[in-house]
Amino acid sequence: MTSASSLFGNYARSNLEFDHGEGVWLVTNDGRRFLDCGSGIAVNALGHSHPHLVSALKEQAEKLWHVSNLHKVPGQEKLGERLAASSFADKVLMVNSGAEAMEACIKAARRYHYDRGNPERFHIVTFEGAFHGRTIATIAAGGQEKYLEGFGPKAPGFDQVPAGDLEALAAIIGPQTAAIAIEPIQGEGGIREQGTDFLRHLRKLCDDNGILLIFDEIQTGVGRTGKLFAHEWAGVAPDLMAIAKGIGGGFPMGACLATEEVAACLTPGTHGTTFGGNPLAMAVGNAVLDVVLEDGFLEQVERKGLLLKQKLAGLVDTHPQVLAEVRGKGLLLGLKCVVPAGEFVAAAREHGLLAVPAGDNVVRIIPPLTITEEELSEVVTRLDAAASTFEKSQSLEGAAE
Ligand SMILES: *Cc1c(COP(=O)(O)O)cnc(C)c1O
Repeated sequence: MTSASSLFGNYARSNLEFDHGEGVWLVTNDGRRFLDCGSGIAVNALGHSHPHLVSALKEQAEKLWHVSNLHKVPGQEKLGERLAASSFADKVLMVNSGAEAMEACIKAARRYHYDRGNPERFHIVTFEGAFHGRTIATIAAGGQEKYLEGFGPKAPGFDQVPAGDLEALAAIIGPQTAAIAIEPIQGEGGIREQGTDFLRHLRKLCDDNGILLIFDEIQTGVGRTGKLFAHEWAGVAPDLMAIAKGIGGGFPMGACLATEEVAACLTPGTHGTTFGGNPLAMAVGNAVLDVVLEDGFLEQVERKGLLLKQKLAGLVDTHPQVLAEVRGKGLLLGLKCVVPAGEFVAAAREHGLLAVPAGDNVVRIIPPLTITEEELSEVVTRLDAAASTFEKSQSLEGAAE
């Protein structure tokens, strides 16, 4: 059967069509307003139509769009310098998406060992429940059967162990291991925190064995958890890090951050991208940082995150037949559901709130970082109403029996 749309059918889209956005609100063509607690999957860090981002993009659009990486791009120099100054990194590579940022991390880690005379050292250890992207290499890194099935042989060199399993980890690392890659909090996997002790253990394991540590902060980075990067909570720095989503505020971009020593292995000609780091993306990325690095911004995210988490815990208490648990940090929060997470997301949508399902039957509550306290209360009111609809239908079922 052919559908009316000429687009690939690879997405299960809702029927909503949005016309414009204002802060944390999305407005449909027919004027319905939705409270956006999905942020385009943790992308719209500063909400919709943020005036500073709009003017930065407009200004750049009138000057210059694209020159390629055959030439210097001042916006890249500026953004690179700022990201390095506010992180463990010395060097930054600009790309277009999350998966590409992870690909760059994987390639840099392999090349680093190759340069040291160890070409056999190309395996990357990853963790069950991980998500690192949809390219041939990153589906192998993520290791999830549902994303690998039917796409040919799994790319070699990815070894997976259960998250937090120290024994399995010790057993799998060896002279073939180039790097360990981990999301400090699994996003798609269901807002699963990996724990400070575990991240510290990984750093030590890497140091003791000459292995590189890669953090995938594509979802957790750029202020989402109340720190610029989530690994700062654990006080553990990686050698390589992928970011994307929030840094573009809605403009497609990503970056690979690295220490000097690791970045040095990607010499001219070894890696590249046509679009990566174009002036439009750089204008927006720099504008996002202008806001996120403002005095007090991250503290506000942390404070609002604590407040929301507390309120969500209250919801869990009042709706034990619908919600089981609240998880996460800052404004990267998850509601573990008793009812199917997809159904809860649909019920929330009926009450004018957008959320995103994740693995482990979790619903992600990931609003723009600019959300106000008043709007946070509105989030809770709408989620409360959504949860109540299940109880009504459950009690109706009970009465019918
Ligand atoms: C979204 C995401 C990716 C993939 O990013 P794309 O831009 O979709 O390629 C990779 N890792 C994590 C942790 C993500 O959340």
